[in-house]
Amino acid sequence: MAEFNQPAEIAREVLKRLAMKRTQPTPENYISLYHEIAGTSAAEIFPEKALKSLAVALPRNTAEQLRFARQFDNAVGEKSWEVLKTSLLGIATAAGAEPPQWATLIRDLVLQLERSRAGLTPAKKREVLEHVLKSSSAPDLLFSRLQSLIRSWSQGQAGEPDQSLVEGETPALPTEDGKKPAPLAAAALASAPSVNGELRELLAQLMENSVTQLLADNPGMVEETTKLAAEVRSANSKEDIDKLAVLMKKFSYRLNFVAEDQAELKTGMLNLFHLLIDNISELVIDDKYLHGQIAVLLELSRQPLDLRRMDDVERRLKEVIFKQGALKKHLNDAQDRLKAMLVTFVDRLGDFSESTSSYHDTIERCVEKISQASDVSQLSDVLAEVMRETRTIQLSAQRSRDELREMKARVDETEKEVDRLQRELAETSEMIRIDPLTGALNRRGMDEVLEREVARATRHEAKLCVALLDIDNFKRLNDTYGHQVGDETLTHLAGVIRESLRPQDTLARYGGEEFLILLPETSLDAAIQTLTRLQRELTRKYFMHDNQKMLITFSAGAAELGSQESAQDTVKRADAAMYLAKRAGKNRVMAA
Ligand code: GH3
Ligand code: MG
Ligand code: MG
Repeated sequence: MAEFNQPAEIAREVLKRLAMKRTQPTPENYISLYHEIAGTSAAEIFPEKALKSLAVALPRNTAEQLRFARQFDNAVGEKSWEVLKTSLLGIATAAGAEPPQWATLIRDLVLQLERSRAGLTPAKKREVLEHVLKSSSAPDLLFSRLQSLIRSWSQGQAGEPDQSLVEGETPALPTEDGKKPAPLAAAALASAPSVNGELRELLAQLMENSVTQLLADNPGMVEETTKLAAEVRSANSKEDIDKLAVLMKKFSYRLNFVAEDQAELKTGMLNLFHLLIDNISELVIDDKYLHGQIAVLLELSRQPLDLRRMDDVERRLKEVIFKQGALKKHLNDAQDRLKAMLVTFVDRLGDFSESTSSYHDTIERCVEKISQASDVSQLSDVLAEVMRETRTIQLSAQRSRDELREMKARVDETEKEVDRLQRELAETSEMIRIDPLTGALNRRGMDEVLEREVARATRHEAKLCVALLDIDNFKRLNDTYGHQVGDETLTHLAGVIRESLRPQDTLARYGGEEFLILLPETSLDAAIQTLTRLQRELTRKYFMHDNQKMLITFSAGAAELGSQESAQDTVKRADAAMYLAKRAGKNRVMAA
């Protein structure tokens, strides 16, 4: 315990000891000796003045910094070490926070500037922006002001126009020294409530725009979602939010059930589709004109649903169905004609047999007359009748024979036409194996040819080469001239390749700008030569666009089918060689 209680006594004692110890009478020495005598510690004295000068030096450029600096001011005012600690921690954390995202800010700003909004003309927006740009010199301050501006514009957009902007006032933004933020800035800077508001708005929009779409089959749930979205928007107090949390929990529980149902429904539909297609494919074994369609549908139903694939199949089916519609009509006409001819044929046959039976009757009658004839004069009458009848029947037979001959020719012709149409119908179905853009085989068609050619090469112990080629820098071509020109380039390339290949070679589109060439009875050397020739051909037969020569080059890899090797493995080796050609600088051909 100290022997001195009164501050005056302590002070006197301090001076005495300073003199005795011959210590310099500096304020620091005085203070420390004072505490020593009083039995207190320096820490217990709140260094208000020192902290105030520190507070002045604190940065107040961003909303975050401003918030913590104010907290610091308050802590000094209240002499609270606890609050001081919180504010210092806040400042330290804010300092390590992410740098301002200028790119996002500029994108948002442009978006908001372009958006039209009732009550706020583009000129007005520019004026406000100009003001913000002029009055904010520090980058961080400019950033936070622009953020507030964007927020106020976007909030107005969502249906609650910001009055200060609508009425043409410059929005009140944090001042350079951050001391007197006006009302709008206060709202924007008091980040927690404003962030909450934004979050609530986002959540409400998510529910109204996306969740309702997912629930389109369930009007009851759609109504519930819309109501809940309104609740989300209007939940301002803590009680509102607590109530909302309960509602949201229930909603998410029900949503889970709906999602499970939908997933089950989708699987069920897919299974049904698969079953149906399987069943149809068994029924139409003889209907060649359906084979292609059934095959792609089967393939589609065996893979997970994919919008792009479905779109592609739909396009191809439509094309085939359209062509087959026209062919079917011709086929039906021809079959009707055939039927009509058969009916005429049977009619003629009936007529003929009728006339022959009346001839028989006449002849029988004549035979009777002859047997009863008593003199020659009677006989000559009967003979004249027999001859007349016979000539008539002969003429009729001749006419019928000619008619029948002619009809047979027409029937033969129509039958041939029916055959041709049926074949065409089946071929149209096969079209589904062809890539519509380039006319080359598609992947499915290629798989079939590959299987056939590999089987043939193995059977005859013949060589078979596979080449894979990929257009160089095609993305750049697309980006520079557009997708349409890209498409035309692909068609051109496929045309040039087809012209330079032998009839027994096959060209298939393997992927976007990749092609596969199948070269039966070809050695690896010959395959490389073929590809090199193709490269030369492409420089001769260039593609013109807007009076500009478009030079297309490709990189390719070739591989020869090994004994015991599967087609897939050969393709893989060709692909690897193609990759090496790319790595080696493109526009070249490599052997696997
Ligand atoms: P690399 O020389 O390395 O092969 O480069 P690349 O640009 O040719 O290859 P990348 O694989 O990066 O890009 C291929 C491009 O081909 C991307 C895609 O947009 C384009 N593409 C794919 N299919 C088609 C199509 O059918 N039409 C058009 N116009 N472009 C396509
Ligand atoms: Mg490619
Ligand atoms: Mg490419």
